[in-house]
Amino acid sequence: ALAGRAAVITGSNSGIGLGIAEALAGAGADLVINSFTDREEDHALARDLAARHGVEVRYVAADMSKGEDCRRLIEQAGRCDILVNNAGIQHVAPITDFPADKWDAIIAINLSSAFHTTAAALPMMRAAGWGRVVNIASAHGLTASPFKSAYVAAKHGIIGLTKVTALETAGEGITCNAICPGYVLTPIVEAQIPDQMKTHNMSREDVIAKVMLARQPSGQFATVEQMGGTAVFLCSGAADQITGTTISVDGGWTAL
Ligand code: NAD
Repeated sequence: ALAGRAAVITGSNSGIGLGIAEALAGAGADLVINSFTDREEDHALARDLAARHGVEVRYVAADMSKGEDCRRLIEQAGRCDILVNNAGIQHVAPITDFPADKWDAIIAINLSSAFHTTAAALPMMRAAGWGRVVNIASAHGLTASPFKSAYVAAKHGIIGLTKVTALETAGEGITCNAICPGYVLTPIVEAQIPDQMKTHNMSREDVIAKVMLARQPSGQFATVEQMGGTAVFLCSGAADQITGTTISVDGGWTAL
């Protein structure tokens, strides 16, 4: 259904970004995948996606903490019908102890990168008369948790950017929406488990069940495949009039 469309997915050599890359390639889109590293395995990942799905896939290294790299990523892609702003990092600490450099990095990667890539991509979408911006926000874009000040601020911010992008492109064949995942067991979440085990003096299983999934009424992690399927839906004709809004894929988190 997306044959001939070109997609750029930031932060897509792992986790949700890679799941969305798989789903868009599965639907026939050509891809540019990205992270800040430039390793042989990153380029091998692009070759593997291309071979399995019969689409064109390029890996472009660019650091989403730097505005000029964000814009260069879109320029190097050359075409961008579908932009998925997914790159993100996390740091957990009380506000009084929160390192200022971590605050700046989270705001840059999780929020400002989407401003820069969107600014670079919209002229290409306008020229094509069609476009999709899919921002990966979070349940933390709609609700808060203690000790995640920068992350919650950035994710609330990207939902605001989503609404403004939708208004500025309304009626032009371009939509902009945010997906709000609950917990998905990816490296960003895996990395929080050891700290939580120490903080709560709990086993891995108890941290997952009693701390993480306590917020998620389904008691189950969401999956990267479900994020991919949601992104493909937002790129479909059924979603032509869906713009400026959020889709939660969170097992009921935000209904609580
Ligand atoms: P992840 O750590 O597997 O993926 C993050 C991706 O961003 C990786 O590909 C990483 O290489 C890339 N990245 C990090 N810093 C970058 C930089 N400076 N430049 C370019 N790329 C960079 O984690 P994930 O869970 O797949 O997270 C993806 C997105 O989903 C993030 O925005 C995250 O906030 C969001 N999210 C995740 C969850 C979850 O439970 N996993 C829940 C809600 C939202």
